[in-house]
Amino acid sequence: MSVQFDQLATRILEGGAATEADALAVLRTTDADLMSVVAAAGRLRRAYFANTVKVNYLVNLKSGLCPENCNYCSQALGSDAPILKYSWLSKDETLQQAGAGLRGGATRVCMVSSGRGPSNRDVEKVAEMTEALKDEYPEVEVCACLGLLKDGQAERLKEAGVDAYNHNINTAESHHDTIVQTHTYDDRVDTIGKAKSAGLSPCSGLIAGLGETDEQLVEALFALKALESDSIPVNFLMPFDGTPFEDTWELSPTRCLKILAMARFVCPDKELRIAGGREMHLRSLQALALQVANSIFLGDYLTSEGQEAKADVEMIRDNGFVILGAEDGLEGAGSVEHDPAIRRRGAGTEVAANA
Ligand code: SF4
Repeated sequence: MSVQFDQLATRILEGGAATEADALAVLRTTDADLMSVVAAAGRLRRAYFANTVKVNYLVNLKSGLCPENCNYCSQALGSDAPILKYSWLSKDETLQQAGAGLRGGATRVCMVSSGRGPSNRDVEKVAEMTEALKDEYPEVEVCACLGLLKDGQAERLKEAGVDAYNHNINTAESHHDTIVQTHTYDDRVDTIGKAKSAGLSPCSGLIAGLGETDEQLVEALFALKALESDSIPVNFLMPFDGTPFEDTWELSPTRCLKILAMARFVCPDKELRIAGGREMHLRSLQALALQVANSIFLGDYLTSEGQEAKADVEMIRDNGFVILGAEDGLEGAGSVEHDPAIRRRGAGTEVAANA
């Protein structure tokens, strides 16, 4: 067993930080040393998050019909992916969906819409939905993911009770223009800055498997660290038919686990969320990944169907973890039932997945 990663964890726990070379070493470790990496990253996970798992639930407010050309996204301009397209759920539908997720064990609701960014009217809709949701569930944490923000919009969301704002950088700055041309990396960073300045908790993450190099994955993670993203969703590309990435399969379960471990070493005290592509790419290593990551989406998300909510909750419990906010037992956990038509709408734009 390699002691290199254990020593790295000790150094971080004593106040040090992982270097880019450390991160690359984690990513390039052999499968024979994978358990050493997981055990060492797991020490950091336990130090900051004990045995808790944060469970998030996505509500897809608006799906498809996007004018942007993100190559990985099933909702993008020009995508032929067979997804449901619809414009804005009603407030009642949103509350029904969010309530189902919360009763199923989630403590955070991510409200997501496709599109370049919201109009002020869209922001008002989300503000009203948030107020209604918080009236009914005062403890709920609300994260909005509505795309690029204009001046004043983050402040309005904050005033309405939104807690966090998600906008992923998705990939390294040096790789960004190869995955989308209708907006820039700087546009994305600007929105994260606006959310932070308004007092919203910044949530930003990446998508692995977009043709990036190891060095670019490291670059993206250090960028997220510099942006002080409070939560980091790590997505694994789901190559939807009908998108330019439809034949891109670069990931293996062990590779995905190493990416998560690397993220833990670089950002040891941040919420690390296994997001889109969890089932498709981690497969039988999902439970092991919880030793490193401390957050997941429950059940379905975005334009794909995730693992059943009940199986997710069982996986959490079977592995000795507890759902954050439900430590004293949550009877309904894992039993999300809702309208199958809405269910397939999944939820969210780029929060969790490749949207
Ligand atoms: S990721 Fe978001 S902005 Fe890009 S195409 Fe998809 S919905 Fe549109």
